Amino acid sequence: MTTEEEALVRANDRSHVFHSWSVQGAINPMPVAGGLGSEFWDYDGKRYLDFGAQLVNLNLGHQHPALIAAIHAQADRLATIQPALANDVRGELAALVTDAAGESFAKVFFTNGGADANENAVRMARLFTGKRKVMAMYRSYHGSTSTAISLTGDPRRWANEPSDPSVVHFHGPYPYRSPFYSDGPEQETERALEYLEQTIVLEGAATIGAILIETIVGTNGVLVPPPGYLKGVRALCDKYGIVYIADEVMVGFGRTGEMFAYQAHDVVPDLVTFAKGINSGYVPLGGVIISRAIAEYFDDKMFPGGLTYSGHPLACAVGVATFGVFERDGILAHVKDMGERVVEPILKGWLEKHPCVGDVRGVGLFWAIELVKDKATREPLVPFNASGADAAPMAAFVAACKAAGLWPFAHFNRTHVCPPLVITEEELRRGLAIIDDALTVVDRALT
Ligand code: PLP
Repeated sequence: MTTEEEALVRANDRSHVFHSWSVQGAINPMPVAGGLGSEFWDYDGKRYLDFGAQLVNLNLGHQHPALIAAIHAQADRLATIQPALANDVRGELAALVTDAAGESFAKVFFTNGGADANENAVRMARLFTGKRKVMAMYRSYHGSTSTAISLTGDPRRWANEPSDPSVVHFHGPYPYRSPFYSDGPEQETERALEYLEQTIVLEGAATIGAILIETIVGTNGVLVPPPGYLKGVRALCDKYGIVYIADEVMVGFGRTGEMFAYQAHDVVPDLVTFAKGINSGYVPLGGVIISRAIAEYFDDKMFPGGLTYSGHPLACAVGVATFGVFERDGILAHVKDMGERVVEPILKGWLEKHPCVGDVRGVGLFWAIELVKDKATREPLVPFNASGADAAPMAAFVAACKAAGLWPFAHFNRTHVCPPLVITEEELRRGLAIIDDALTVVDRALT
């Protein structure tokens, strides 16, 4: 690797690549020379432990040999085929996915990623119920295409408004900063469900086609629903004839130690959207898992939607290989073990150790650490949606992590622990030790 190579990568990027969610002139992305497993490195050979699994999609890590082999084999056989024709790997993957989702699911509609999965799930729900309104949570992220960004309940929506007028937002549970002034998880569930039912009634149950919920709110804080909440949502959907759509784009395919996160909450949604972990993002792929009832509805009615690359064979071949690796390497058991035995005790210990740690929460390899100025008042370390000088304390934390060889996943006043699911115990402990040291830097700045 030469300095000239790196300079060329940087120059082409700066001149010709238009980046996501960025003020184009203000960014200077790090050129990446390669990656393997849970690490990637720059052109100087400096290695980073990837504690965000890229965008929480690289579940099986960089350059997994089984996934790379699947791409090669499929490319040699049939690199592409249009979606109106039947294809072996597409069908095989659809069967594996519906089987993993549970017996009430029948079919999969494949998309290119998570946003278009949500768009199409909403489209199906509207057609199935004949009702147009969709409810989604504040503090959610559902993607950046037209309907998906309207459904999103975080600041990324603001600059894209006006939103789809048929979207209604509501508060979900967030025990650490309860919008319902509750005293604990039980009361949080009860009050959140009361408030949701009131919103449904006041909006008009006869107008609401779907409720779309991230099973565990992801980028906006790893908000694990308190016991009973999702069951309560399911009951309200049944009571009012509303389709329950679970957005499992970030949590699906093992992130929580279950194949799908809803499986730990004793609920069965009507539609499940997925992307990311289905094939670790090696080739773009997403989709909607469709319940038997909704699939049958379309047996004699046209579904008015489609994508040129729906069920792309290269992407599906990596998906099939992903199921093989999960089975062979016991990925779900590894995630549970790492979460319970390594991450949870260390993070809970930080509540005592670090003045700046206000809350820790999560499951499996999906955790958030919420940083505060003051534990008693819970004032966030940086203001909501902070940027520039206001965000400096978090920027200092991120810089300390990167200097020590860890690429953190940080948002507002939180840092998340969501590495590739194949991370080893040694790598996990090494990464957590780096975060521990960086938190000490934040502690010192508070005093
Ligand atoms: N839904 C959730 C929960 C997500 O986290 C994301 C992306 O981060 C999306 C949807 C959108 O997925 P994509 O970026 O593949 O369109």
